[in-house]
Amino acid sequence: MTETATTAVQTLLAQTDSDIASYLEACVHCGECAEACHFYQATKDPKYTPTYKLQPLVKAYKRHKAPLRGVLSLLGLSPPEVTEDELREWEPLVYDSCTMCGRCTLVCPMGIDIAGTIRKMREGYAAAGIVPDGLTAARANVERTSSPMGVTAKALLAQIKHQEEDTGLKIPVDQKGVDYLAIFSSHEIMASPEIIGAYAKIFKKAGLTWTVSTEAYEATNVGVQIGSGPLAKQLVQRVVDEAERLGVKYVIAPECGHAYGAIRWAGPNLIGRPFKFEVIHIIELLDRLRREGKIPAGKKDGRKMTLHDPCQLVRRGGVAKEPRHLLSDSASNFVEMKGAGIANLCCGGGGGVSANSRAEDLMIAAFGEKLKQIDEIGGIETIVIPCANCRGVFEDGLDAYEKEDYEVISLGQLVADTMQDD
Ligand code: SF4
Ligand code: SF4
Repeated sequence: MTETATTAVQTLLAQTDSDIASYLEACVHCGECAEACHFYQATKDPKYTPTYKLQPLVKAYKRHKAPLRGVLSLLGLSPPEVTEDELREWEPLVYDSCTMCGRCTLVCPMGIDIAGTIRKMREGYAAAGIVPDGLTAARANVERTSSPMGVTAKALLAQIKHQEEDTGLKIPVDQKGVDYLAIFSSHEIMASPEIIGAYAKIFKKAGLTWTVSTEAYEATNVGVQIGSGPLAKQLVQRVVDEAERLGVKYVIAPECGHAYGAIRWAGPNLIGRPFKFEVIHIIELLDRLRREGKIPAGKKDGRKMTLHDPCQLVRRGGVAKEPRHLLSDSASNFVEMKGAGIANLCCGGGGGVSANSRAEDLMIAAFGEKLKQIDEIGGIETIVIPCANCRGVFEDGLDAYEKEDYEVISLGQLVADTMQDD
C-alpha cells in the first residue's frame, strides 16, 4: 500500500463509527436510492447509484472492521486492500457526483444516510490529499482570507460603503453589545451585495440592533465541503469567538444552505461545546419578525413565482414552512413546483460541486432535471431561492440551457422590496 492509500484507509476506518457501520451493514442493495439521485436521474449511468459511490469505504470496512472478518479472511472471502488507484478512480464519484443533498435517504427503506457517509468518506480523501483542484484552491483562499473566494475585510467594507450610499442607512460594523451578528457567504458579498442593504432596511424597520464583523464575516465552511474536520472546526470557531467577543445573542446564518448546517447543526459538535448564543437562519428571523408585526408586508409582487427549496435548508435543515409564510405575504402569484418541500430535487451544485470546475458538465446535466420541474409549471417569471450557492448554480444552468427569461432572486431581497414603507 502507498503512503497515500494508507492515510486514506486509516482515516476512513477511524471515521467508521457505529452509525456508519450500521448503515453499511443495513443496506439491502434494493437500488431504490438510484432514482432519487439527480445525478443518476440525469445520466442513467449506474456509477451514480448512491451506494456505488461508497465502495472504497465498504471495502475497507469489510476487510478491517466488519463482524466475522477474521473468519471471512480465513475462507478467502475478505475483499483485497483498497489501493491508491482505486481511491483516485472513485474521487470524482465522491466529490463531483454527490451534493450531500440527502434525497436518497428519503426513499431508502433502511434510512441510510448516504450524504453523511459521503461526508465521512471525504475525511479520508482530504487527509490523503486526494481532493479536486477547485476545492484545494478554495481551501488556500480560506487560509489566507477566511473566504473561499478570497474576499478580504477590505472588500467587504467597500461593499458595505456602496450599500450605505444606495440605501442611505448606516450599516454597523464591529459593534459590541448588539443583539445580532450577521454573517454572509462570499457569493452574496461579491455577487449580490444588495442583500446587505436589504438587511439594513429590514432591521431598521424591526428595530433590531445588529452588526457585521470584519473578523468573522464569512459563513461558507469549505471544511465541511472538502471533508476536513479540523478546517471545519477552525471556521466555526472563528465565528464563535467573534460572536462571544461582541456579546451577541444571535448569529444570523445567511441564505446559504450548507453554511447554515455547518454552524447550526454541526457547529457545537465541531467545537465540542454549546454556543453562548443562538444561531438563527435569516429566513426564520424574517418569518418571526413578520409574525410579531415588526416588518409588515406591503404591496405584493405580482410576477408568477416559484420557490426552489435548498436541500440543506429545507430537507436537512427543517426550514420549510417559513419561506412559504413569507412568500404568501410577498407574492400574489406564487406556484409550488412538483415535489416541493422536503423531497425537492437538488439544484446539482451543493456540497462543493459548484466550486469544482471538473464537475461542471455533470452539474449542468443534473440541473436539467430541476429545470424540467420549473418548465412544467409554465409561465414562471421568477424563481425565489433562499440560498446564494443555489442561485449561482441556477444562473449558470439557465445560461447553459439558454433560459434567460427566468429571473432568480433572493427571498430576503423579496421581503425587503415588498415590505410596507414607513
Ligand atoms: S445525497 Fe443526494 S447527491 Fe448524494 S447520492 Fe444521495 S441523492 Fe445523490
Ligand atoms: S435504498 Fe438504501 S437499502 Fe436500498 S440500495 Fe440504497 S442505500 Fe441500500
